[in-house]
Amino acid sequence: MGSLGTTFTVWDGYYNVINGELKSTTQSRHGINPATKKSLPEVPVATQGDVDEAVSAAKSAFNTWSQVPWNERKKAILAWADAVEKNFDDFARLLTTEQGKPLVFAKAEVEAGLHWTRTLANIEIKEEVTKEDDEKQVVVRYTPLGVCVGIVPWNFPILLAMAKIAPSLVTGNPIIIKPSPFTPYGDLKLVELGQQFFPPGVLQVLSGDDNLGPWLTAHPGPDKISFTGSSFTGKKVMESASKTLKRVTLELGGKDPTIVCPDVDIATVAPKIVSLAFLNSGQICLAIKRIYIHESIYDQFLATMVEHTRTLKTGDGMEDGNYMGPIQNAMQYEKVKGFFADIEKENLKVAVGGVNEEKPGYFITPTILDRPADTARITVDEPFGPIVPAMSWKDEGEVIERANNTKYGLGASVWSSDVQTANRIARKLQAGTVWVNTHFELDPSAPFGGHKESGIGHEWGEGGLKSFCNVQTLFLKKV
Ligand code: NAD
Repeated sequence: MGSLGTTFTVWDGYYNVINGELKSTTQSRHGINPATKKSLPEVPVATQGDVDEAVSAAKSAFNTWSQVPWNERKKAILAWADAVEKNFDDFARLLTTEQGKPLVFAKAEVEAGLHWTRTLANIEIKEEVTKEDDEKQVVVRYTPLGVCVGIVPWNFPILLAMAKIAPSLVTGNPIIIKPSPFTPYGDLKLVELGQQFFPPGVLQVLSGDDNLGPWLTAHPGPDKISFTGSSFTGKKVMESASKTLKRVTLELGGKDPTIVCPDVDIATVAPKIVSLAFLNSGQICLAIKRIYIHESIYDQFLATMVEHTRTLKTGDGMEDGNYMGPIQNAMQYEKVKGFFADIEKENLKVAVGGVNEEKPGYFITPTILDRPADTARITVDEPFGPIVPAMSWKDEGEVIERANNTKYGLGASVWSSDVQTANRIARKLQAGTVWVNTHFELDPSAPFGGHKESGIGHEWGEGGLKSFCNVQTLFLKKV
């Protein structure tokens, strides 16, 4: 059995956590270190019976946890965060091993997970009095919803699990975490560690195969699904959840545009944009995925991006100095390679990069395509890998229209030395988050969500907490 001390001493046993107990399953499976393709330890494959058990435990836990005073729930979450922090290096190393990202970024993710947890646990939702007279008071309050399920993707498994756990638990809702089968390890340990701070059934985790997500969304027990993943899967989750009218929050894919105005300082901005496009090997919902550069500076800007791209080292995340790790899994690697196959098929011009077949892991060198058509697949679809198109623009109205001409609406940004111009353009972009002179800057106290097919609802901030609640209007009498 895995250790239950506040500091883990055993990191090689991985268990589901159901009703406060560590559980193995008859069948098991394992992940793969994407940098080496070596097998990682066995993890459980949950059955429908395990789902039933976890949901039923969460249902009973709801009766008591929802009645625990807010402040006590908050204290338990903060104590759990402290325990995660005590194991900081182990969580970061485990993350690099299972996800592939360089250790420095794995550490940044665990740090962000802690920051998100602490910030979200410290938000308070107050009752609002919307009307009052001598006889009555109309009060709006936010009551716990019930059993929640948090479905997590493989690109930021620690941060995204923690950012679901804290708001669900602080608002009084037990949560069952379902990690991606590609990255279950850290999430299993986060929840195992949590058992010291929460009563049985409040925080649970199930690792499984591709059956598990659909079992959870179809199960009549849960009241809410908080899902982060692709738009394709998000639609399936919504369809399945609709059968029992479960609440859903869907944080989905993106095709973020960035607009570069003619007055930028090329030497500063071009390297920043490249770094933001290739961070996490492009496997970020909010990575820059389309670069629109004003035609008057296009050649020089592209040349500077190419030059910086060549300095980005790709390799095993455990080795110092690598900016990019591998693609996280074989399926995604093949998907990204499909975009490289388009280069030949569609006769696209490569400014820098190409597929790197030499290393044992799923590595791809960062690649920029020079002015593919607006209709090319690389300009329209999300590759979720280190390949990005650069396009030129002439007219402000035209580039705004092209930036908005997508089914996605997650993030967008604009770069200019003139903040008036930049702010004006920013306000015209259709996305859940829009930045000026930066991209991918996030804040747990601000709402985060997508427009169009990038999602429904939002997480984080006070509104994110409210999405884990029912709204109740009370018409109370004074006399
Ligand atoms: P995915 O949709 O394949 O999987 C996400 C999760 O859903 C995994 O845990 C998976 O096991 C589970 N799942 C798969 N099929 C399911 C089903 N039918 N029912 C229920 N659950 C199911 O996504 P991924 O490949 O893990 O992640 C990459 C995608 O996630 C990209 O599109 C990216 O843009 C998006 N993403 C969005 C955000 C955001 O906050 N908007 C953040 C990170 C990633």
